[in-house]
Amino acid sequence: MSQIFPESFLQEVMDRNDIVDTVSRYVKLKRSGSSMKGLCPFHKEKTPSFTVSPDKQLFFCFGCQRGGTIVNFIMLAENLDFVEAVKYLSDQAGLAIPEPSGAVEGEREKLRQTIYKINSVSGRFFYECLLADEGKAASDYIASRGLSQKTISRFGIGFAPEGNRLLAHLRDNGFDDEEIVQSGMAVRNDSGHIYDRFRNRLMFPIIDMRKNIVGFGGRVMDDTTPKYLNSPETVAFSKSYNLFGLNLAKNTKDDFLILVEGYMDVISLHQHGIDSAVATLGTSLTPEQARIIKRRKSEVIIAYDSDEAGQNATKRAIELLCEEDVVVRVLTVPGAKDPDEYIKKHGAGAFRALINSAKLQIEYKISKLQEQYNLDNTEDKVKYINSLATEFAKIKSPVEREIYVNRLASETGISASSILSEIDRLNIANERRTRAGAFRGVAPVGSLKTSDPKKENIVRAQRLLLCLMCADATVSEAAGSQLDSSDFEEGVNRTLFNLILSIRASGGEPDARLIVSQTEDAACAARILHDDQNIEDKPLAAKELIRLIIRERMVKKLFETATSSDVSQEQRICEMEKCLRKEVGTNE
Ligand SMILES: [Zn+2]
Repeated sequence: MSQIFPESFLQEVMDRNDIVDTVSRYVKLKRSGSSMKGLCPFHKEKTPSFTVSPDKQLFFCFGCQRGGTIVNFIMLAENLDFVEAVKYLSDQAGLAIPEPSGAVEGEREKLRQTIYKINSVSGRFFYECLLADEGKAASDYIASRGLSQKTISRFGIGFAPEGNRLLAHLRDNGFDDEEIVQSGMAVRNDSGHIYDRFRNRLMFPIIDMRKNIVGFGGRVMDDTTPKYLNSPETVAFSKSYNLFGLNLAKNTKDDFLILVEGYMDVISLHQHGIDSAVATLGTSLTPEQARIIKRRKSEVIIAYDSDEAGQNATKRAIELLCEEDVVVRVLTVPGAKDPDEYIKKHGAGAFRALINSAKLQIEYKISKLQEQYNLDNTEDKVKYINSLATEFAKIKSPVEREIYVNRLASETGISASSILSEIDRLNIANERRTRAGAFRGVAPVGSLKTSDPKKENIVRAQRLLLCLMCADATVSEAAGSQLDSSDFEEGVNRTLFNLILSIRASGGEPDARLIVSQTEDAACAARILHDDQNIEDKPLAAKELIRLIIRERMVKKLFETATSSDVSQEQRICEMEKCLRKEVGTNE
């Protein structure tokens, strides 16, 4: 079905519409481990069996067996067909439907892939320059900032030398000038002359969730301006849709993300084991980034610089994150200008203590307003109360609101009831339109249950392995070398096995949403791919699953040999022996 739209367009539609955001308009979702749970909108139930995976961007209901991507959800929820649902979602994201020919999209996608390759070659080049003699000053500088060799390779930090060395290197690697300019790694001036964009700078690759280098940040090591220079916006890179460090921070065990200002803050915190730090890309937080953050964690700790610019950026970030219903706390670094300086001076333990004592955003705002106004002055006092009433109006919990109102009342001597009536007035003005979710009957997809419990076990093993193959390249490689498609149950399992291997074989990173879109039975594919059962050591689990599947293959073969009539007794014994020997082999 996805053939109607180019794959890249479908991907963009799904990138721009977060499944948690969209589903939340119909269903109240609660976090449960790595996924979200709620009461299914498609069948009647009292205990939630409807799950959404923010990571995989898929949904599945264990009650009525409906599932799929955000497109499948909208098809069901709004009773639309596939094309209508994609149009609905692209409208919602303000995207234009591509020309039917798809030729333009195809070109765009080709260029995007080329830019990924150029960036990857550039990243390696910068890294090697840093290790070479010419990178001596840069590596001395990095050492003076306290970064270890492990950190340098973890973040792929490099050095862009003087001259047009990268340009020459990219040409040597077969890229043409037009592609190099389009990637932003080189600039063409008015007279048509092409030169390296980044010179004599420390280079930080910006890496997306699919491990592509989408752009670079370059930092000077002296007082040259600009201090930071980023890749320009390209078809592969948008500053407002990426966060520096999220490719690593997405695996953190912390329940929150820490939002810091600079790349060096992120790198320094990660080196000290605070692996939940991310940064925006030289701009203030965007609504898109706030949404990306919300997809990962329900709490954010803002740890911006202590100067005025940092504090103003903190206020803006609070607004955007609160709009996404993210719990926001604000961390202030005492006696240091930024988290990097603080953690180097005082260590990870002290920084963890700051995290634990970070103020809820409302407390932070109250203390800022207290600094701003002189409460002995009547005019200031009125302004102070009005500013806080505006903040309190945004608090959703009535209990929480009452606590703050009472506190303000006793602090200012104004009665709680007049503060509350001011809040009511503000709330009526702000009243938001709420959507009524109306669901029309849609037939459920076929049940996944089989009557044979033993077969169910092996099918389950296949499915978990497929999920791990989608998430992990080494698992995919192991499965691809030891199993073939006949080891998988006919239908969705076999289709997924072939699909994942072919994507991996062409060097791609499988995108669960696109795979589900390409599968006939989207609900079943979503069920398989959306839940990796929180397995930490995927290769180890996969080894066991592969062993189970091979064992099943042997048993089948033995059974066939034993019951076949056109094989001699001698041949039968020989075959069985072979099978048994192999089976023992796989146990080692
Ligand atoms: Zn359901």
